[in-house]
Amino acid sequence: MSALRLHDTATRETRDFVPLREGQVSMYLCGATVQAAPHIGHIRSGVCFDVLGRWLRTSGYDVTFCRNVTDIDDKILAKAVDEGRPWWAVATHYEREFTWAYQILGCTPPTVEPRATGHVTEMIELMQRLIDAGHAYASDGDVYFDVRSFPAYGSLSRQKIDDLQSAGDSEGDHRKRDSSDFALWKSAKPGEPSWPTPWGAGRPGWHLECSAMAGKYLGPQFDIHGGGLDLIFPHHENEIAQSKAVGDAFANFWVHNAWVTTSGEKMSKSLGNSLLVREVVKRVRPIELRYYLASAHYRSMIEFSFESLEESAVGFRRMENFVRRAIEALGDTAPATGTLPPAFVDAMNDDLAVPAALAVLHDTVTSGNSELAGEPSPDSLGAILGSVRAMLDVLGVDPLADSWVDQQASGDDESRVVIERLVAQQLRLRAEARERKDFAAADAVRDSLRDAGVVIEDTAGGARFTLDVGSS
Ligand SMILES: [Zn+2]
Repeated sequence: MSALRLHDTATRETRDFVPLREGQVSMYLCGATVQAAPHIGHIRSGVCFDVLGRWLRTSGYDVTFCRNVTDIDDKILAKAVDEGRPWWAVATHYEREFTWAYQILGCTPPTVEPRATGHVTEMIELMQRLIDAGHAYASDGDVYFDVRSFPAYGSLSRQKIDDLQSAGDSEGDHRKRDSSDFALWKSAKPGEPSWPTPWGAGRPGWHLECSAMAGKYLGPQFDIHGGGLDLIFPHHENEIAQSKAVGDAFANFWVHNAWVTTSGEKMSKSLGNSLLVREVVKRVRPIELRYYLASAHYRSMIEFSFESLEESAVGFRRMENFVRRAIEALGDTAPATGTLPPAFVDAMNDDLAVPAALAVLHDTVTSGNSELAGEPSPDSLGAILGSVRAMLDVLGVDPLADSWVDQQASGDDESRVVIERLVAQQLRLRAEARERKDFAAADAVRDSLRDAGVVIEDTAGGARFTLDVGSS
């Protein structure tokens, strides 16, 4: 039997995962800065680390999972000005959007989900320890980390201090001893929220909160620290500096997921709202979106397109159909779970090689389908079904798991299928009308759909639709 190996960004090696405490895993994931609704790029890290958490639990570990909420930040303050409401109303609103997205995509809730604003005491303590140890200094109401006092700075991102650009918080540059020093704490500006500290009133820098909260909930040393690739520098480099400079061993493994890209570039807000989780789940079911995001290797970029999303959904439905047909054939004797094939286990243990694990899953479904096509033997069909459901569960996409069944019970799922069929019929009528150049009839189909809240969009890949009840 293989054992788990994980790629560690700090050593650039895929190495054996040995937990610090037998049978237990502690994992910290940088969560959302709650200043906008999540798009699928934001939520990918939630899904990737949920698959890791599930695999650790399947492997018998007791997992303590801490995912923070950054609820105070420059971007939140800017959004509050844009939206004309208090910063705390903005933060709460978008935190709820993230909670909804994690939940609808079947992400297991974290063991603890601490907010930055609830941990100022811990941050002040950490800053005091850093100042006492000579690694930080207060300057005119700001507090900075003295990067040159920590020779290992740059080791995670493999950079030398002398090659570093300024840490970006440039408005305070005149207060810094060195341009690469970064802010732990920012002094209050008029009209901005602030908390009192021994060095003056102000608010936390982003990096400080993660060190403070990881230490509080997971202790001075823990097993896995996760996040997106874009957090390696400066965020994770700075977390390491803050925690190791006071003598904490901090994370044993650094695990980073790749981005969702469009046209080869990191997803950006310029794409508008079409890739918000809320919009994408109007085109495919949440379980299909989760399958799409989980099916790539977590260290591979996902080059997003609606075509590839729909293709992936078709692949998922094939497995889902097998599960439903096998349960029909087996009736009460259908098992809810079964044995994981050794090849699947080996793939997951090999740095979560989900594509290789999926190949095993698809092959097992193929053998299940041929069993169904003949005279199925209940024993062998039951074993295949149990094994398929166990594999789907590791990826969080067993269609009969409680979370998905609850979603279905709300009616969204089945209505969506019916709507899809009805719209497909109407689109066929429209295409036929266009073919015989009866444009009045074609337009009438489009208009009646629009009146019902179905918006048709003609694309190179054919007509697509979205639901927009507000426009009717
Ligand atoms: Zn963080």
